[in-house]
Amino acid sequence: MQEPLCCEVTAIDYCGCGYSDFCRPTEASAVADVLATLDQADASFEEVIVWGHSLGTGIALSALSKLLESGRRCKGLVLEAPFLSLPRAASALVTPAAWPDFREGLSRRLARIMGHLQFDSASKICLVAEKMPVTILHGTQDTKVPFEQGQRLSEMGAVPLHSFPCGHNDIAKQPQLSGAQRHPDRIKRLYLLAALEVEKFKNKTLDAQMTGATQGTMTTAQTLQSLVTQDQSVSSDRALESPWRGCEAFHIYLLAQRQLYEGQHEQAMKTSLRLSEYEDILDTQTIYSLIALTTYYNKFFAQCSRAFIKLEASSDVSDEMRTKFADLALSIFTRNAPRDPASHMLPCPKCGTRINDWNITCSSCNHRLAFCVASGRSIFPEDRNASHPYPPGTGGGETIKCRCCRHRMYSNEVRKLRNCPLCHSRLDVTAMHTPSVPH
Ligand SMILES: [Zn+2]
Ligand SMILES: [Zn+2]
Repeated sequence: MQEPLCCEVTAIDYCGCGYSDFCRPTEASAVADVLATLDQADASFEEVIVWGHSLGTGIALSALSKLLESGRRCKGLVLEAPFLSLPRAASALVTPAAWPDFREGLSRRLARIMGHLQFDSASKICLVAEKMPVTILHGTQDTKVPFEQGQRLSEMGAVPLHSFPCGHNDIAKQPQLSGAQRHPDRIKRLYLLAALEVEKFKNKTLDAQMTGATQGTMTTAQTLQSLVTQDQSVSSDRALESPWRGCEAFHIYLLAQRQLYEGQHEQAMKTSLRLSEYEDILDTQTIYSLIALTTYYNKFFAQCSRAFIKLEASSDVSDEMRTKFADLALSIFTRNAPRDPASHMLPCPKCGTRINDWNITCSSCNHRLAFCVASGRSIFPEDRNASHPYPPGTGGGETIKCRCCRHRMYSNEVRKLRNCPLCHSRLDVTAMHTPSVPH
């Protein structure tokens, strides 16, 4: 975001959240945190755009109405997936929309019970929208805060609403906002920073639990229990569950493109086929047009036709593009039968069934194969039955593991590299040889 908008981004860890977990959060403490951050900012208030997501929308509106009381204002406000008030958002989670009266009754009851945790955005939107530009973004498939609440808020404040065909946490990933095609390298870097932060946060949570629970000694059983609970307590969000996925997706996308432009068509195909595992991060057209192109170059017409089926059936591809893909598919497959050529077979690391060296999952046991972050190829164990060594570029062989991101790569691919291709941290190649065993 920084470069295209020429702005700096500051994110806040509210008291009681993230690294600032030494106090109990309240509406007042969260508002105070925003105002303190604004006071600390290098820019004047008039230059700052406040962006709140979910609960942050309530905090942002409360903080800005407080700011207005003192005669100051900001440059603008973005509300991403906002609610009318916290009790109303909570009641919508448990009551079907078909029972509006019951929902209203429940939200009034919750408002009484929740005391000073109200975040009554509905009562503040008009006041704030009068003094500064406000924009609302909301996913139509949001299951945490219903889309109708964002819509209602936009009507009340007469502010623009932008809707997206996605859920609560996915607006930032929408292609029209993310610019994924234009700046994949920047987005990979952002995901990498996020992944490293999540790792740091996980280690911190774990450390705190270990020290808190033990006072010096801990049995193996307690240690295990603590690890299990820790994992559950930080795994509610998919990003925390697997912080590296976003980084992997953009890394693979960039790698496949580089291989394609360097004329390594077979490698580019093996790498791009792997993108189908990242449909939650990259959009259909980005993934499957690259797969269609690389499989076409390699005459893998069965894989190619599967990619075209995805492109023609996807609702997030525009009608115009879908028609173009359908015409292109027709001209390709009237001349070429949808069949793949024979390829080198290697044993699945889990069940031993021999599968194509370009497979990303085992066709027999469904095991998801780990991949080499340097070449994009699936990682196979040493093939003891092979009478001669692996042909170059097919897979198999010795691997090493990066100490920082814990991803693996074939040692013969990284002989000349000093840094991990995925996380860019320094590789200690001599110390890291590990046998090529199942992940
Ligand atoms: Zn298998
Ligand atoms: Zn790494």
